[in-house]
This record gives sequence, structure tokens and C-alpha cells, in this order.
Amino acid sequence: MNTNIVWHQATVTRQRREQMNGHRGTILWFTGLSGAGKSTLAHATEERLHQMGARTFVFDGDNVRHGLCQDLGFSDDDRTENIRRIGEVAKLCLDAGLITMTAFISPFRKDRRRVREMAAKADFHEIYCHASLEVCEARDVKGLYKKARAGEIPEFTGISSPYEEPEHAELLVETGTRGVDECVDQVIAYLRDHGVLPASDDTADAKATAGQAPGAQAI
Ligand code: ADP
Repeated sequence: MNTNIVWHQATVTRQRREQMNGHRGTILWFTGLSGAGKSTLAHATEERLHQMGARTFVFDGDNVRHGLCQDLGFSDDDRTENIRRIGEVAKLCLDAGLITMTAFISPFRKDRRRVREMAAKADFHEIYCHASLEVCEARDVKGLYKKARAGEIPEFTGISSPYEEPEHAELLVETGTRGVDECVDQVIAYLRDHGVLPASDDTADAKATAGQAPGAQAI
């Protein structure tokens, strides 16, 4: 790295943003096979959080490949670089105080470990969207499994490229067998249990408290 580059310290800190938001910033890293339900669950969770008044953002696999990662393909190296970039952007969003959700297959343990190490332990939560290959293939939301079976997509996760299951995910969600709402409930409960959201209070109330009493512990 260039030695003339110096980090500029913001005066509006993460802590001040979190206080205003009424919740902590965090990274929820959804991982799982294609079609397991990462995007669906991340966006449904975001919808619920947004209605509660929380500040959120979802990074979605296909979407970042239109811009930030448009130069990358699906080779092992490119997948690694893809995940590294997302990790860096997610970290910036953490500083912005957002509940940041990422929905990427992220099939390799070493890549997930690397992004995990970018953040403090309390700020990174790996959420395994567990659905069997059979279920994902039967869903075949984008018709990709059919193409992969026909040999039209090289290095397709679960078919011709490995998916390394998480060994120590903070949360396992049975997206293959449970309904979406039930899975969202599980994520929200997890966020309350881990102090990202206020325990029982709703986020809007916590925000009001933070506004009324400067310095009050809203989160
Ligand atoms: P991914 O992002 O993992 O590739 P998608 O979210 O695009 O998967 O697609 C998952 C599909 O599974 C969607 O059609 C969704 O409606 C369905 N689905 C069924 N149950 C669930 C669940 N509990 N969570 C998430 N998706 C689910």
C-alpha cells in the first residue's frame, strides 16, 4: 500500500450513528447454495427491519456483478476477489452504522474466514441458509441448475464446484424446509439476543429515547 495514504478519522463516529439509529451496525453474512434462499431471506429481513425503523442495506450476488465486481468471473480466484470486495464494502457500511446483509453463495471457507477477520467478532454473523441440493435444484429459481447439469455453466456451485458448508455459523436457518416468515422471525430474534436490536423495546422507541436524552444508551 502507498505509504502516503493516511486514514482520515471521521468526527461523526460509528457510535454516534448507532445512537441516532437506535440499534447497532452489524454484518449479516448469508451463505448457502444457489436457490437456498439467501436473497429472499435477506430482503425479507430487511423489509421487516425497515418497518421497525432500522437502517439497513442488502448486497446481493447478482447486483454487485453489474458494477462493483463486473470485471470478475467465477473462477476460484475471481470468487475470492468478489468476496473480498464485498467484505470491504460491508465493513464501510458497518462504520456507517447500518445493519448490512450480504447474500452471496460464498462457497469457500477460507474466503468467509477472511471477511470474518475483517470485522470485530461481535460485528460479523455468518448465517447459513440451509437447503439441500435436491431442494435447490427442484426450485431452480433462475434455471441455472438445468443449465449446469447440461454442462452449459462451468464451475457451478454444488454441481461442478464445491460448496464448503459452514462449520461454525452463528446461525443456521432451515430455508429449505421452513417458511420465509418463520426464518425472518429467527433472524430478528437472533439480532435481539445479540444486542444488535434493543432487547424488547422497538427500534423506533429506542430512537426517540436517544433523541430526547443526549448520551443516553439507546442500544
Ligand atoms: P439464493 O439467493 O440463495 O440464490 P433465492 O432467494 O434467489 O436464493 O431463491 C430462493 C427461492 O426459495 C425463492 O423462490 C423463495 O421464494 C424460496 N423459498 C422458500 N422458502 C424459503 C425460505 N424459508 N427462505 C428463503 N427462500 C425461500
